[in-house]
Amino acid sequence: MREARTTCPYCGVGCGVVACVEDERIVDVQGDPEHPANFGRLCVKGSALHETLGNHGRLTRPRVDGVEVDWETALATVAERLTAVQATRGSQALAAYLSGQLLTEDYYVANKLFKGFLGTPHLDTNSRLCMASAVAAHKRAFGADAVPCSYEDLEEAELVVLVGSNLAWNHPVLYQRLKVAKQRKPLLRVVVIDPRVTDTCEIADLYLGLKPGSDARLFTGLLAWMAKRNKLDRVYLEQHVQGFDEALAAAREQDAGVEAIAADCDVDAERLETFFYWFASHLHVVTLFSQGVNQSSSGTDKGNAIINCHLAGGKIGLPGAGPFSITGQPNAMGGREVGGLANQLAAHMDYDTPGARDRVTRFWATERRVPCLPDGPGHKAVALFEAIERGEVQALWIMATNPAVSLPRADRVRAALAKCPLVIVSECMADADLLAYADIVLPASSWSEKDGTVTNSERRISRQRGILPPPGEARHDWWIVCEVAKRLGFGEAFNYSHPSEIFDEHARLSGFENGENPGEGRRLFDISGLVGLDRAAYDGLAPIQWPVNAGAPHGTARLFTDGRFATPDGRARMLPVRPRSPAQALDAARPLRLNTGRIRDQWHTMTRTGRAPRLMNHRAEPFIEIAPEDASELGVEEHALTRLHGAGGSYIGRMRVSRGQRRGEVFVPMHWSSHFSGSALMGELLEAHLDPISGQPESKHGAVWLEPL
Ligand code: SF4
Repeated sequence: MREARTTCPYCGVGCGVVACVEDERIVDVQGDPEHPANFGRLCVKGSALHETLGNHGRLTRPRVDGVEVDWETALATVAERLTAVQATRGSQALAAYLSGQLLTEDYYVANKLFKGFLGTPHLDTNSRLCMASAVAAHKRAFGADAVPCSYEDLEEAELVVLVGSNLAWNHPVLYQRLKVAKQRKPLLRVVVIDPRVTDTCEIADLYLGLKPGSDARLFTGLLAWMAKRNKLDRVYLEQHVQGFDEALAAAREQDAGVEAIAADCDVDAERLETFFYWFASHLHVVTLFSQGVNQSSSGTDKGNAIINCHLAGGKIGLPGAGPFSITGQPNAMGGREVGGLANQLAAHMDYDTPGARDRVTRFWATERRVPCLPDGPGHKAVALFEAIERGEVQALWIMATNPAVSLPRADRVRAALAKCPLVIVSECMADADLLAYADIVLPASSWSEKDGTVTNSERRISRQRGILPPPGEARHDWWIVCEVAKRLGFGEAFNYSHPSEIFDEHARLSGFENGENPGEGRRLFDISGLVGLDRAAYDGLAPIQWPVNAGAPHGTARLFTDGRFATPDGRARMLPVRPRSPAQALDAARPLRLNTGRIRDQWHTMTRTGRAPRLMNHRAEPFIEIAPEDASELGVEEHALTRLHGAGGSYIGRMRVSRGQRRGEVFVPMHWSSHFSGSALMGELLEAHLDPISGQPESKHGAVWLEPL
């Protein structure tokens, strides 16, 4: 028996895992007691990792037009067909759709190939569905997409506010840490702000069951309340913040007192004022926000409304203080680091970052290339599939994700895929329903085989180690991308023999000409301190939080401790926020508000977690959660099969009547794909309403009607 240290591939907590290997099989997993994210803990999903493994059902051979082929044929065909589309329709007809499941090294080479060498900006990722609004809010406020806090701040806080987060189910180990902290520190208070009463409420001292979508109203109300009660940190505002007057003026436009805010948010006024008082009277406050805030047509504004309150009270850059966006996926942050969003170029630089295009061009040595680096952002996820529908994008390479299930109007996404002339899919599982749309299928390695790095929600880079060989002819994503790049004639720039070489280049780019550019501000994502790791050092890399550079060789637990931000003048920005209702209106035809989300024991479309019987036992089938009053009014009973009708299709699930559900609202889980149930595709219920800044879809605010079966 041997032991191997790696990282869990599920949520953004990024727990360290010790895998026990016997006869080339992982027979058990334990939490890594030395990993600073989890200190030995694992949740039920993580502890069942070994039960989801095995070669049964894996893709092991490449396929072209439905016929199994060898790798040389598959790679040459990908290169030929991409070249043909580019020659006839131009670079803008090429696109890629990536995933927060990819490792940073996979992401880096894919971004480099598509943007740097194929010259198309249309490379986006499923992280667009989970944290794009938080990214945009960070950039507006701090000048960089940077999460200020560490997990230990939850333990050091006096008050933890959870907004739009069912931490107990979606980030269970973090919830466990908070629960233990509360037991040890009885004065630590927890406030939960969420339309649903979830398991997270078990540790809440105060629960605000607000009306869906009213978060910005609540936090602009808090800002106005703090100003009125003289609870602002005037010195901090004076020294470190711009935009306070405009932000406060916008908050005051809507301020008609606590009673009016409470009525707008549909919460009890006394409880609301208690929350305001607690927030304002504690310095060490962490506001942890997640998909309930981000998955909204005004998610960016909601993020800034939260950040505004922290800046106004000076509650940032201190132990136990700060706004804290928690990501959904294991490597959503790594994808952001390499530039894997369509509005990014590379290494946390956007297209409009002063000098960025020229700098990246020189770093990748693409000055003489035609086409050169794109000069503006590409299509964000939903817009990308609309461009395919219109015939503008003619070739799409999808890696490690299933947009046919997870995107809003999944019915239209599937229609777009069906008409796209070239669909390339890199995938691990032979039964993934996306394969039905693929012209070329490339078998990819999976967790326990992949070798590289991921970054969790607290900016901590950890190694996900290759422990077992991939089955059959499955290959690593970075290898597949590089081999295609070589056949496209870019061999010199993609001649890596090991992921450590890719990581080294990524680290060098992060520090390349950083701090030498007037008007740009500091680029906070800087891991130049990790340049030059040889294979052994890379393999042994201990978890470390960025920035890691000459000024912080051991990493950085907390950002903005000196009150300097990443804006050109070093000051944070408060934004004027004017709350908006969800874009999706309710009407007589679709009178119920739809909320969507994860369940405790499943992950994404269940391709992995669906293989472990004990994980399936938690919730074995799709369900629809509804308030008792609505159930009785609509004539549906607990456990009855019921159909929801939404924007582009319907969803059949078993009724769960819950007192935790508000009247007029229903909740459905997001996980079921056609493979598990062809009649419960959550994405078909949602219209594609987007946040205008981040492009993130409004997945928490659908409109549906319910039909008893
Ligand atoms: Fe994995 Fe998240 Fe559970 Fe940790 S909390 S074991 S990262 S699923």
